[in-house]
Amino acid sequence: MNEHVAAPVPDSGVAVDLSGAVRRDWTRVQVRALFDLPFPELIFHAQRIHRLHFDPREVQISTLLSIKTGGCPEDCAYCPQSAHYEAGVKAEKLMEASAVIAEAQAAKRAGASRFCMGAAWRNPKDRDLDAVCTMVEGVKALGLETCATLGMLTGPQAQRLKASGLDYYNHNLDTSPEFYGEIITTRTYRDRLDTLDHVRAAGIAVCCGGIVGMGEGREDRVGMIVALATLPRHPESVPINMLVQVEGTPLATGAALDPIEFVRTIAAARICMPASVVRLSAGREEMSEETQALCFVAGANSIFYGPKLLTTPNPGRDRDRALLDKLGLTPME
Ligand code: SF4
Repeated sequence: MNEHVAAPVPDSGVAVDLSGAVRRDWTRVQVRALFDLPFPELIFHAQRIHRLHFDPREVQISTLLSIKTGGCPEDCAYCPQSAHYEAGVKAEKLMEASAVIAEAQAAKRAGASRFCMGAAWRNPKDRDLDAVCTMVEGVKALGLETCATLGMLTGPQAQRLKASGLDYYNHNLDTSPEFYGEIITTRTYRDRLDTLDHVRAAGIAVCCGGIVGMGEGREDRVGMIVALATLPRHPESVPINMLVQVEGTPLATGAALDPIEFVRTIAAARICMPASVVRLSAGREEMSEETQALCFVAGANSIFYGPKLLTTPNPGRDRDRALLDKLGLTPME
């Protein structure tokens, strides 16, 4: 038994399991106590727990391609692809499968182990799903892990994707249940949980996380981590995004989140979902190398590689390669 099990968190008196065991009964009081820890304590425990489950030198690398851009009927306040806002993103048709497979080949050559295909849909129509299944089969045949993010899914749609070889499905909870209504009104938190249930039931691994810096308070970041860490099973992959403020969207202005608070969120995700891959996702373009390094120390062990994340900028591959080299990190096989 580890000496840190149920250790009272200094200055709070709250008993928190810091053993690194996978558990799904996290409470708000416990996660709040983690966020409130002195920063060195929090980072120490996050890094210690990270090492119980992962090689701290390895970073999983994914590439994300927008296979269908813009014109989305949903009203996610952070998203330039929503048809509700004038953010300068042109609505495009679904890409041809051959073009998607060529992009996947290039991503593989650049060191990606997973290829994620994103479509700006509320939910896929069955005829669109046929085309996506062809893409998944083609990407899988290259020896890459496959991931898709296509909006809400029914149970049969999830099963079709599984049959075509889909390994991961991304569907984020975005924020806490309490703050959610400030960000999206066109689908409910329950809708999201239902899609996650369908994905799980089909035997597809779940990629599910959220976004911070949207004007939420710490209590909402706590609530988001609790919502993720108390799902029926922890997501295999947990993307934590820093809001990218895009002109034309309702969240274009507003105070940026303090980078230290972002690192605290990564650390809390690592401690509460110790065996999940935690992905440092959107927002890296504006993040200093020092902040990204702190995120890796706090337990982040995945990034998106490539110059664009759907429609927002991402550091180029050369810059990423240089940062990983500088930190002595290597791509996870
Ligand atoms: S986040 Fe996804 S669902 Fe929401 S508006 Fe953007 S593309 Fe549509």
